[in-house]
Amino acid sequence: MSIAAWRRTGLFALVLLLPFGKVSLVPTTACAARADFVWRPASPKAGSLFRVATTARPVSATRASGTTAVTATVAGEPLHFRVVGDSAFAIAAVPIDSTAGITMAWQCSGDTSGSVRIPTTAGTYRLERLRVAPRFGAPPDSVTATRMRLEAERAAQVSRSAHDTPRQWSLPFLVPRTSRITSPFGGGRTFNGAVTSRHMGTDYAGAVGAPVRAANRGIVRLVDAFTLGGNVVYLDHGEGLVTAYLHLSTQLVAVGDTVSRGDTIGRVGATGRVTGPHLHFIARYGTITVDPAGLARQR
Ligand SMILES: [Zn+2]
Repeated sequence: MSIAAWRRTGLFALVLLLPFGKVSLVPTTACAARADFVWRPASPKAGSLFRVATTARPVSATRASGTTAVTATVAGEPLHFRVVGDSAFAIAAVPIDSTAGITMAWQCSGDTSGSVRIPTTAGTYRLERLRVAPRFGAPPDSVTATRMRLEAERAAQVSRSAHDTPRQWSLPFLVPRTSRITSPFGGGRTFNGAVTSRHMGTDYAGAVGAPVRAANRGIVRLVDAFTLGGNVVYLDHGEGLVTAYLHLSTQLVAVGDTVSRGDTIGRVGATGRVTGPHLHFIARYGTITVDPAGLARQR
């Protein structure tokens, strides 16, 4: 065998190194590389949750603590990996307006980092024409607009801080009502002939007073009367997950309460901008609002 052929077998280098007693037959790699991440589905849908898994080395090294040395973000939202066997899994979300994919960025113990573009699929959300109460047909006056902006900011703050809350939830998530869905997530809404907003929640039928249950264990972060949402309850489930319950007639919880999955936290109402009593149910991963149906499908 020639030296060149021998070298190609790989044994050449091994023999040369043996006298030093330092040969590691396990290749050492950077803490994470593109190949260490997979996600399902391969092209997640705009406005949906999906799963990211990693086999990056620190996963097994830190198994005892249940955390990984890999930190990652998807579409700007931090991921919360949970170690299961030799892998770690996290929930991630695609913004509904994503058209050209989203970026996953990772960092390992402060030294190596990288990013990858995750392709996304456009949603197939329908356009819906609504009759609107006349007082909402015109743009809000400046005082109302300011109030709405402050309300939205308070809700956004609940979403951002949910990344700092330890995980309260366990699978599965429940739907807040078992009644008929009267308006699904994601549809474009036309008010007085113009597309002005998307329906960023799921509407459930219900008479005033019908029970609304918590989708999962969580901490009550917001109980208030909002301009559009009426009487609202926001639950922080931890590790970035938030659910919200709008247009309630009665709120049965207070800020700071911890509620269990399935607890009745309020009653269906017709408060805020509505044409009749129903529950508007919101699911968020960080500040990304997603189809709540995907939350209930997590297993
Ligand atoms: Zn709604």
